[in-house]
Amino acid sequence: MVRENEIRDREVAVAPPVASDAGLVFIGRIRTPWTSRLTCPRQGRADGPLCRIELFEPWDAALAGIERFERLEVLYWLHQSRRDLVLQSPASDGQTHGTFALRSPVRPNPIGTSIVTLAAREGAVLLVRGLDCLDETPLLDLKPDRTLFTPIAPAQPGDFEVGG
Ligand code: SAM
Repeated sequence: MVRENEIRDREVAVAPPVASDAGLVFIGRIRTPWTSRLTCPRQGRADGPLCRIELFEPWDAALAGIERFERLEVLYWLHQSRRDLVLQSPASDGQTHGTFALRSPVRPNPIGTSIVTLAAREGAVLLVRGLDCLDETPLLDLKPDRTLFTPIAPAQPGDFEVGG
């Protein structure tokens, strides 16, 4: 069963520091068929339902050229997540894991990412498949899938050095 807010066996919560403003801006909202975490898929699927990514002004102008990419990386703010667990016991495997060893929505900074396929653009709205988030989830960023993206600027010496 997906968690709503309970603490499971062997899970550990901490008292997180008061969040300081990282300066994030919600640039849009994601519209999906799911209004409950109990029914939302754990990971998006390429054959999942068509979902809408609605950009707010003035960020809609930043969509220029996005139709060139059949797949996009979407970053979103899992706004209903608790943020205080360092150890988690997913319902699926009966084991306890560190938060950073999981893709759970419960994390200190609840950022979710999905690779989606772009079906269409309608002005400030993208129609995509492959999401796994609740209706009205805030949008943080959009990028071309890195496997499709060729850097626009010519490579510079040192671009590919380890640690660079
Ligand atoms: N694909 C993303 C990732 O790997 O970073 C998110 C994976 S997370 C396991 C997906 C789950 O997060 C969903 O099944 C749902 O239970 C939960 N979830 C989705 N949207 C949420 C939201 N806005 N706030 C809190 N939890 C959310």
